Amino acid sequence: MPAPSKPKLIITVAPVGSLPTKADSPHVPVTPDEIIEDGIACWEAGASILHYHARDKDQKACLDYDFFARVLEGLRKHTRLIVQISTGFRAPVHRDDRIRAVDLRPDMMSLNVGSVNLPRGPYPNDPVDVEYYAAKMIEYGVKPEIECFDLSHIHAGITLWKKGLIKDPPWFDMVLNVKNALPYHPRHLVHMVDTVPDGAMWSVIGVGPAQLPASTMGIVMGGHCRVGLEDNLFYAYKQLATNAQLVQRVVRLAAELQREVATPAEARAMLRIENS
Ligand code: ZN
Repeated sequence: MPAPSKPKLIITVAPVGSLPTKADSPHVPVTPDEIIEDGIACWEAGASILHYHARDKDQKACLDYDFFARVLEGLRKHTRLIVQISTGFRAPVHRDDRIRAVDLRPDMMSLNVGSVNLPRGPYPNDPVDVEYYAAKMIEYGVKPEIECFDLSHIHAGITLWKKGLIKDPPWFDMVLNVKNALPYHPRHLVHMVDTVPDGAMWSVIGVGPAQLPASTMGIVMGGHCRVGLEDNLFYAYKQLATNAQLVQRVVRLAAELQREVATPAEARAMLRIENS
């Protein structure tokens, strides 16, 4: 068999998003210590990037600066993970609140480049604000993850990249199967991947039952993938997952499909991460 020609696989884990609570699954980490503990397990399992949100004492999504800081500090102390703070927030807030944690200089932050309908209603992302976030990330050496719920979001990311507001290589993440947005289907992913410019990198998020097939497509197509309880609570039908179990499964799939898994140091080099 010839040597593998595809790049090493970068696995992102998103252990906690803005919606699931302990009532949905006892495995969802909602405190800084829980996220750090899960992060260590996912790093040991093979994840390179950890993307997270903040929660308040009632487990509601928030933009608490100290929460973001504590998790970043803990993950840097105990792991070599690339740490990605979410700027996503669905309730209306001042744009400075969404990007405030940029001055913590995390390795990466997510960047929502377009508006989309989500399960609980519209999620507006004003193009003027998007440019503002991208410029802040450049200023603080933070690598953006371009979240693409739609083909138009890829074009929005390309526009920012052409304006010099996103450095090489741009990192696109295709978000499929969010209710009210684009469903998961291999042909949608193929079309999206065909749209990213040469030299760009891409990953895929499949929400709910789409997580397993979408991750597999990411591995097979030479892209990268994200798993975790932000996007999917289940390992199998009616069987709740832990974050580490979801990472471990992707590592096993990658081995069977002849993709080597990148270490965080390798992923850092591939993505040209500036902060550490
Ligand atoms: Zn998120």
